[in-house]
Amino acid sequence: MLSQLRQPYPTDLPDSVAERQQLLSAVDSEVRMCTLCRELACSRKQTVFGVGHAKPRVVFFGEAPGADEDRQGEPFVGRAGQLLTKIIEACGWKRQDVYIMNVLKCRPPENRNPLPAETENCRPFFERQLEILRPEYIVCVGTVPAQALLETAESVGKLRGRFHRYRDSTVLVTYHPSYLLRNPSAKKYVWDDMQMLLKEMGLAVPGKG
Ligand code: URA
Repeated sequence: MLSQLRQPYPTDLPDSVAERQQLLSAVDSEVRMCTLCRELACSRKQTVFGVGHAKPRVVFFGEAPGADEDRQGEPFVGRAGQLLTKIIEACGWKRQDVYIMNVLKCRPPENRNPLPAETENCRPFFERQLEILRPEYIVCVGTVPAQALLETAESVGKLRGRFHRYRDSTVLVTYHPSYLLRNPSAKKYVWDDMQMLLKEMGLAVPGKG
């Protein structure tokens, strides 16, 4: 399939929040019926599509649901999710102000990394989701979303600290909150990245000045 990376977002999609919500829920219905990844379709409790504002400035893009997300049907609600929520709030937003989604819509067993074939099976879903949302900014948290979106094999360490492009969105790459739970000393890098994002967005860093 032709890469979307350098293609502008389509300009002929409905644009109101209500219309976007309708389009998103149509894709969500397709996701719920998807059985392309046999193993994941058999082991999931439910699919986990995405949550938040349908017309967001920023999308947070993660890897895949874990056990808590699989149980609750919402991305980033477990321990890593609570840390992501703190990061979002430290930027001055609430979860409802942004949109939160993952590469995979099903939980990989034992939280193993997504297989390349699973990412490719889910690609049409996350690309369509982003096409409907058309965010100004996408924050990739961790290696899996960064490599899937930017079609690269580079590490987060190499990709962070500068902006990238996906279609009409500016992309920032930073560490995954699960990585921060294991390596709290990396939190300062994530905060540097988020400050860089806020500056690019023309927003003040909360608590500064
Ligand atoms: N980790 C992710 O990447 N996504 C979730 O939804 C939860 C944990």
